[in-house]
Order: sequence, then structure tokens, then C-alpha cells
Amino acid sequence: MDMRIGHGYDVHALAEGLRLVIGGVEIEHTKGCVAHSDGDVAIHAICDALLGALALGDIGKLFPDTSEEFRGIDSKILLRRVVDEVEKRGYRISNVDCTIAMQRPKLRPHIDAMRAALAATMGVECDRVSVKATTTEHMGFEGREEGVSAHAVALLCR
Ligand code: MG
Repeated sequence: MDMRIGHGYDVHALAEGLRLVIGGVEIEHTKGCVAHSDGDVAIHAICDALLGALALGDIGKLFPDTSEEFRGIDSKILLRRVVDEVEKRGYRISNVDCTIAMQRPKLRPHIDAMRAALAATMGVECDRVSVKATTTEHMGFEGREEGVSAHAVALLCR
């Protein structure tokens, strides 16, 4: 079996009064991500992990933030397009693991909804998708609530 592993990392700044969408789920909060798309930091990290596994570049190469086509776009659409690229090459997703670093709000109540949304978008079983959340103990840009970051790894099989 041919196995490929990929890593992704993404950051977005937070600003008052914007929608907060993470892992395909809209979360009630006073701040949201500044972005050209809906700013879904978890999905962007997962896209880069999937693309990285096949050395297909990164999300910015596929979906340029200068393109009107992607303004305000639901990142689930981008993720589905990335999975199409994976499947076109004969690979399937073995598993995806994502960690989100955010001080506030608590993400735990939303984790299972994120896993379900991501799994449905990628067309895989929920037990192949892990989402974890951590604070950064009030340190760094996440801890100061200036931004949110996400790491992801993906394993592909053919
Ligand atoms: Mg991004």
C-alpha cells in the first residue's frame, strides 16, 4: 500500500463583529476571523495537510485570495474540491487530525459538530476525523485573543 502523510498550518486574525466559523461550524462569539473566505482556520489547515500529502502545493495556490470567486466562500466548498483532487489521484483519506489553538470561547461543546461537518464534507466516517482544541494559557497571539491557529495532519492511502 502507498501511504502519504501531510501537514498543514493556518492562522487568522480575530476582529470584533465578524462571523466565527471553525471546522465547518458557526460559533457564537463577539469576534470572528479576518479573511477573504469565511476564514475557517481548521478547514484551511486540513486542506493544506491533504495537499501537502500529495505535494500539490497549498490552499493559496489553488484558491488565490485575489480571486473574486472565493470572496466569503464557505470553506467546506474548498475542502471538497481538495478531496476531489485527492480522489482523482486514486488516494483515499485514512484519517485527519486537527488541533485548534484559541483562548476563547471554549470549543469543546462544538467539537463533535465539527467532526461531523468535516467528515460529511470529505465523505469519510466520523471516526477518521479528529478535532482537538487547546488554549495557549493566555500566551502568544492566540492567548491574547488576537488570532486563532490550527495545525492538521492527514494520512492518505492508495
Ligand atoms: Mg486561512
